[in-house]
Amino acid sequence: MRAILHLLTIALAILLPLGAWASAADEPEKATITAMGGIPINVSAWDISRGDFNTAVNEISARIEFLEAMISTYRPDSVVSQLNEGRRAEEIPPELAYLVFMSTAISQDTAGAFDITVKPLVNLWRTCRKEQRLPTDTERLAALNKVGYEHIVSGIDGSITFTKPGVMLDLGGIAKGYFSDEAVTILRNAGATRCLVDCGGDITSWQADTAAGPFRVGIKNPLEKAELFAVLSVPTGAVVTSGDYERFYEIDGKRFCHIFDPRSGYPVEGVLSVTLVAPTGIQADAYATGVFVLGFDTGAQFVERLSDLEAVIIGRTADGELKVFVSSGLADSLEYLDAE
Ligand code: ADP
Ligand code: MG
Repeated sequence: MRAILHLLTIALAILLPLGAWASAADEPEKATITAMGGIPINVSAWDISRGDFNTAVNEISARIEFLEAMISTYRPDSVVSQLNEGRRAEEIPPELAYLVFMSTAISQDTAGAFDITVKPLVNLWRTCRKEQRLPTDTERLAALNKVGYEHIVSGIDGSITFTKPGVMLDLGGIAKGYFSDEAVTILRNAGATRCLVDCGGDITSWQADTAAGPFRVGIKNPLEKAELFAVLSVPTGAVVTSGDYERFYEIDGKRFCHIFDPRSGYPVEGVLSVTLVAPTGIQADAYATGVFVLGFDTGAQFVERLSDLEAVIIGRTADGELKVFVSSGLADSLEYLDAE
């Protein structure tokens, strides 16, 4: 397929949102699970009995609880917290080994833009936010010194060690996508012919027969998040948005987002949102974060190079107008709601 850079510039006034919904022919079974300290996970599945669905939902709940207890940095006894404090290296559960393997591969792919060792930066900027000040250069460089996926060593014996003290893992940029994939696997094993999992806005879908029609996923207006900007038709696979509008904070009146550039040590500026479409949730989640870091132009070129990935990137021109990049593979799948 010919790669086209479809660049639209639209006036701020008609600029719109990011949410997600899906629709399909028959009514699905639906349930909502709450995980990760209050994040809703909405699960829908088609062609499955209520009993089988309920069993699958319980299994999803238990699976996510199990994974959270393993990888959450908010839980002092998770395997990741133990690793981060130097209390554990061996007997790494296969799920964590898989997440680290995938994360490292995506770090290599994105020239280090996606990097699960950003935690020293997360911690530093969290402290600075509380103290309402910017980090000093010394503090930022000291944190950066501990950032770098190349400091992670995955041993053939299943161990994970770090090549220098102070290196820490933070799977916040990939976990929700993985949880969605796990939920989809459970629903498929339970016999559903199509399913959709919305894990706090990270969407993973699957259907055996795409003739039933695509899922429809709304993309929010990053400047007005109650509004939808466009609707994306997805035959099967994952759609994840990384944006600066859901989780941000201010220091001295300036707005900062929760995604860091592991090369500079600063929170990322410039892009408003990246909606990434990929075969799996884990890819969509991690690449959405990575492309957000790469920025509008480099991110657009990156997505066009990889045939598995598609994206809608919303940014701003120097004059403050919105600009939208739609990758060539999505040209026929995106329906703008208000603007041309
Ligand atoms: P959200 O959690 O809002 O959906 P993301 O998937 O983009 O957003 O993940 C953001 C989280 O990922 C941050 O809260 C932080 O824990 C972690 N993170 C921040 N910057 C990076 C980065 N460059 N690479 C990988 N993870 C990151
Ligand atoms: Mg992410």
